[in-house]
Order: sequence, then structure tokens, then C-alpha cells
Amino acid sequence: MNQRQILLNPGPVTLSDRVRAAMTKPDLCHREKEFATLCLEILDMISKVYPGAKEFQPVMLTGSGTSAVEAMLQSFAPAAKKTLIVANGVYGERMATMLTKQGKPFELIKGDWVKGIDLEAAENILNKDASSFAAIATVHHETTTGRLNDFRPLAKLGAKVGLGLMVDAVSSFAAEDIDFDNLTAVAATGNKCLHSIPAISFVLAKKDLLDSGKSEAKSLYLDLFEYYKAQKNGFSPFTQSVQGVYALHEALREFQDLGGQTARLKTYLSRRDAVLDLLASIGVKTLIPRDTFSSYLTSYIVPPGKDYDKLHDALKAAGYTIYAGQGNFSGQIFRIATMGDIRQNEMDQLLALLKTHLT
Ligand SMILES: *Cc1c(COP(=O)(O)O)cnc(C)c1O
Repeated sequence: MNQRQILLNPGPVTLSDRVRAAMTKPDLCHREKEFATLCLEILDMISKVYPGAKEFQPVMLTGSGTSAVEAMLQSFAPAAKKTLIVANGVYGERMATMLTKQGKPFELIKGDWVKGIDLEAAENILNKDASSFAAIATVHHETTTGRLNDFRPLAKLGAKVGLGLMVDAVSSFAAEDIDFDNLTAVAATGNKCLHSIPAISFVLAKKDLLDSGKSEAKSLYLDLFEYYKAQKNGFSPFTQSVQGVYALHEALREFQDLGGQTARLKTYLSRRDAVLDLLASIGVKTLIPRDTFSSYLTSYIVPPGKDYDKLHDALKAAGYTIYAGQGNFSGQIFRIATMGDIRQNEMDQLLALLKTHLT
């Protein structure tokens, strides 16, 4: 399979040649100063992705996006008071599973997957009983449907009663706009909008929170406070993915060369709109309203008379991997993520293929 594979799943992504080449650099021990230098540069580049994140410090660890979300909850969700989870999809509900496994108290607002986050429910709960909560958690881009949740009203609501918001921004960081006001921590990863390999994920947390040293972790590997201490000199308590660090370093340099977050958002929007326009023109219906989608992930109802598996296999044979629905949506919808290193001729071919196989 030497043909370029264009991944249209929401991570991992099609790599650029320069990121792939970076992984063939010489082997390196993670206790050597060259490795520490690379890590410090990565942390510096991550902290500059959003000018609004000045009070936040990234902490990186080896693991996929889930490890960043779980490390965030491990380290910051308290054992003594509840966390309010405001969910509208698989990833929000997964945070509740994580807290269950950690033995920490929470309340879950299990919102409708095709609706926005339920602010009213959150408001009612907090109006009644804010003092039994210590934190709020939600998902920015709910990848289940492709919906970009506006968490700002929730962050404001939390601030009114003295609660900070933790955000799973695994599938939005580096592309979507993020307002850091009233947030305490943001979990993200290298292998989605930053276009690196699945290997290194990270959490941006308020510096004063990290400096407080008050870890709530009941896990050794996922305790961000330990990473924070070690990484002041560029190191890590455990072996990091060295090739993953090479790849992420190069991906961040490429990201900067291409114009950073605002440029990435623009690129994503133009690709996404091309797919939305084409599918609308041939009558394929979106799962949620067009104006609620994130910049790169859209979801569609499998048209009557069409079969998801057949569509998937036909596109895959041509080098394009689309993505199925999760959970309740399995077999009912398909998703297209136009993230990663996709060239214009590949976008053109994708549109032609979709037209052929969906009409
Ligand atoms: C992809 C994703 C995750 C999990 O990331 P993995 O890399 O699969 O572990 C978590 N949250 C959201 C919103 C995601 O899209």
C-alpha cells in the first residue's frame, strides 16, 4: 500500500512529509539534554498556540487524547466534592466513566446527542446546590456528532458560583477558537488538529493550580503534578515517546510556518464547506444543523438505499478512509473529518468520489 492514505476519521491524521521524516532522526535517550531541549521547545510552542492562554502551563505525557482527559480528571477533580459533567455525546459521557473508575463523586447531565449542551439543566443544579460541587467539566468539540459546543456560558455560570471549568478540547485544540476565561484546565493531543502522530498528549492547566501542588490523583502515571515538577527542566518521570516528540516538534513548527491557529481554522473551514456544499447539492442530509458543526468534522445520515460499509469500502479502495457513527449512531450516520495534511487535488478527488458513490 504505497498510495497515500487520506484519513477522514477524526484523528489520527494524514501526516505531512516533513512530520513523517522527523521520526527517522537518530535514536535518543529521554534522559539526555537534547531530549529535554526538544520538550521545552514543544511546551513553549504549545503555550503560544493561543495568546489568551498566558496563565496556563502545558504539561505533556505519552498517551492518546484519552490519557490527557483522564490525567486532567485524575489530577484536578476532587475526591471530596462533586464534579458536574455536562455531556452531549460519547466523550462527555466517557468523563463520567473515568470518574466512576477513579471513585470520585460527580453528577452527569446526560444531554441529547443531537442537541447543544444543556445549560439550563446546569443552571438548575448549580442554583440549588452549588456548594456540593468543586468543578465543572465538558467537551468542546463533541466528535460523536461534529458539534462545536459553546462552553463560554457554562464557564460564566461556573465563575458566578466560584467553580472552574475543565474542558476536553482534544479534537479542537489548535484549530477552533478557545476562550480561556474561567477555565482551569484544557486537555488536548498532538494527533488531531496539530497533525502529529498519536503519541504525545497534553493538558494546559492554570499555573497557580499546578504550583499549588494539590494533586487529587489516585494514579501514578496520570498525576500531572509529577510531570509538571520534572518538566521544569524538560524531563518526564517516565519514558516519553521519543519519536512522538520528534514528530510533534516538527508538526508544531509546520503549524507555525503555515500561520498558526487562525490559518488552520481558515483552511479547515474551506475544506469543510466544500464537502457540505457537495453533499447538500446531492441531497445527503446532515445529522445536525450545518451552522453547529466544528470547522472540520461533519456527520451525515446514510441515504436511504445506501449501505455504510459499502460506501466505506469503496472509498477506502480509492485511498480515502471515512468514519462510522459511534454508539447509537452506528450504521445510521457517517462522518467526514477534513483534518490533517490533505492536498487540494486530494480534496477534489474526494468530492468526485463522494458524488459518484452517493448519487
Ligand atoms: C478523539 C477524542 C478523544 C480521545 O482521543 P484518543 O486519541 O482516541 O484517545 C477524547 N475526546 C474527544 C472530544 C475526542 O475527539
